[in-house]
Amino acid sequence: MSVLRSATLLDGDALAEGLRRQMTARAAQLRRHGITPCMATVLVGENVASASYIGRKHADCAEIGIEARDIRLPADTAMPALLDQVAALNAEAAVHGLMVQLPLPGALDDDTALAAVSPAKDIDGLHPENLGRLLAGAPDLLTTGLLPCTPHAILQLLRHHAVPLSGARVAVIGRGPLVGRPLAMLLSLKGIDAEVTLLHSASRDLAEVTRRADVVIAAAGQPGLVTAQMIRPGAAVVGVGITYGADGRMVSDIAADVARVAGWVTPPHGSVGALTRAALLQNLLMIAERDLA
Ligand code: NAD
Repeated sequence: MSVLRSATLLDGDALAEGLRRQMTARAAQLRRHGITPCMATVLVGENVASASYIGRKHADCAEIGIEARDIRLPADTAMPALLDQVAALNAEAAVHGLMVQLPLPGALDDDTALAAVSPAKDIDGLHPENLGRLLAGAPDLLTTGLLPCTPHAILQLLRHHAVPLSGARVAVIGRGPLVGRPLAMLLSLKGIDAEVTLLHSASRDLAEVTRRADVVIAAAGQPGLVTAQMIRPGAAVVGVGITYGADGRMVSDIAADVARVAGWVTPPHGSVGALTRAALLQNLLMIAERDLA
């Protein structure tokens, strides 16, 4: 049965393309001032998905005009060696920002690696100091802060489509440290002013909350978790969680029938991946532009 689409598509890929064009101009401006924006990524081991994510980040850098260092370490790297590598990149003035691709293999500790990155070069926006500023609601955060990439991507997607957020009831499904939890903090900041409810696997009745929400954002990694019956007509619905179906296609947390009732919705086989990478490089350029002052 075909699903009649009435909702406006929240097309993250299209917005990401526009942001990459803007960033190309910013990178060119930096080069005119003798500054070569430079990012470094550290990948430990051979995880196929991680290697693919790193490859896409480097492709974006090549398109925009950002120099990118691709540092690969063997899967049996010990924590001190990884921390030495991160410390060397922290110390190198030519490197404006860096990230360690997670999850790390074996006994390597993700949180220790995140905390080792200099907070001033933390393009993931996941260092405890940068997350702390988000939690504290630092007043200049939206203009000068290093924001976590996926939450910032979602905020930009909603703003680009003029989805009202001030005073809006937003239901965020998933309390993970990369998406749901920091997103709830971001959307409730003064200046964005959403009223956020954070739902998770122990929540008793998701639908009871989502049916009252103006915006529903699912970052659970459960295919088709959010269905049309759970959505107030006209609401904005964002799928962040992704899984892969038997055919290898990406499947959203948002069921296809949501498009019949929502006012705005992300594509059924889409995600905010390209937009997340754009937010990463926005952080990088913001750091590099500090050298202009
Ligand atoms: P996570 O495993 O840390 O968190 C998942 C959260 O979902 C948990 O808080 C859990 O309580 C909640 N959850 C699971 N099932 C639920 C249910 N039935 N009802 C209510 N809550 C439920 O994962 P994460 O790192 O936060 O990522 C979440 C999803 O977003 C994953 O699918 C991941 O692949 C995706 N993701 C996408 C991007 C992107 O750029 N597109 C970036 C990061 C994560």
